[in-house]
Amino acid sequence: MKILVLNCGSSSLKYQLFDMTDESVLAKGLVERIGISGSRIKHSKGAESTVRETDIPDHTSAIKLVLELLQDAKLGALKSLGELGAVGHRIVHGGEKNDKSALIDASVIKDIEDCTYLAPLHNPANLMGVRAMQTALPGVPNVAAFDTAFHQTMPPKAYIYGIPYKYYENDRVRRYSFHGMSHAYVAARAAEILAKPASSLKIITCHMGNGSSVTAVDGGRSVDSSLGMGTTPGILMGTRCGDVDASVILYLMEKEADLKKVSDILHKESGLLGVSGVSSDLRDIEEAAAKGDERAKLAADILCTTVKKYIASYAAVMGGVDAIVFTAGIGENSDVTRREVTRGMEFMGVKLDDSKNDGLRGKEAIISADDSKVKVMVVPTNEELMIARDTRRLAEKS
Ligand code: AMP
Repeated sequence: MKILVLNCGSSSLKYQLFDMTDESVLAKGLVERIGISGSRIKHSKGAESTVRETDIPDHTSAIKLVLELLQDAKLGALKSLGELGAVGHRIVHGGEKNDKSALIDASVIKDIEDCTYLAPLHNPANLMGVRAMQTALPGVPNVAAFDTAFHQTMPPKAYIYGIPYKYYENDRVRRYSFHGMSHAYVAARAAEILAKPASSLKIITCHMGNGSSVTAVDGGRSVDSSLGMGTTPGILMGTRCGDVDASVILYLMEKEADLKKVSDILHKESGLLGVSGVSSDLRDIEEAAAKGDERAKLAADILCTTVKKYIASYAAVMGGVDAIVFTAGIGENSDVTRREVTRGMEFMGVKLDDSKNDGLRGKEAIISADDSKVKVMVVPTNEELMIARDTRRLAEKS
């Protein structure tokens, strides 16, 4: 079965076409600046790729273009659209009702719409992709894979905030956390690499990229996770603030007297960028820190210390930890960050082997010393493959 995986943003659309007989990627691409001048599509098949600059006014036109390229004589991977078994959509928010991926029907669409107040930027964009695909290929099943679903196993003590309970009862104000497909994938893959059943392992997964979250995975289930109702809490991110005291937010609201401005400060001007004043990209921060830039060094220090705090607290919550897994852009590539995060954690059985860590980028590996009680691992994430697997399973059932 061939499965197309879509990740729709408000002005972009990422796609990958999988052949599920061997889970290989047949083609992939990115449509950018949908509805904005300068729109373009970059499509690749193996080593060959093309960039086409053309008018792409909306998601329906973007999908038409993607489907055309997927059937292109040279760069395509489908003889006809009839070969496409199903389409999987990354959906950011599934609320409390959706604890797993779901075949999309009218009631799932209503659920996604109902969660729009929780993910106002993402859910409407995700739905544009669903609707455009339903129009383009009416007979092909669509599957929703929710970023929040994996975390629906968190117990109330992890997801209820210490504010009046009525805000949970009436408005569903609670921790949801995100990056669920990534945490689920790397936790399952870590168990495979360790050749142990996931049900027997306590794993802490550190998804560290431009957006970041740490998750406690006990017996294959998320039991706590550092993002919240929204996407700012937890560890310092590229431009998002991480954990800050409510008083800081109240102070900013009073000082700026503009809700949108405060939201922009916390989402777009904070994090690595806000602290360092250098960049939101850790590579720039590491370069500036190596040249002696004190604020760049401070930003990197805050990042590593906060991840360390989450690891220790999640180990305490689970009553131990068997493996710590690093993933996403920073986790997969920054040996300096992995070293700083795990430094001084020998007291809890974490012992990094520098010779295995140094220089390791984007590859699966166990980077702890052979006698480390806790295994430290790098597992490149593959959210698209997780979505493709769920999509196949649900499409076959249907
Ligand atoms: P992602 O959102 O998963 O694409 O991750 C983006 C983040 O990964 C950015 O902060 C990048 O600076 C960081 N990153 C990517 N490659 C490296 C690298 N070789 N060394 C350090 N950070 C990296």
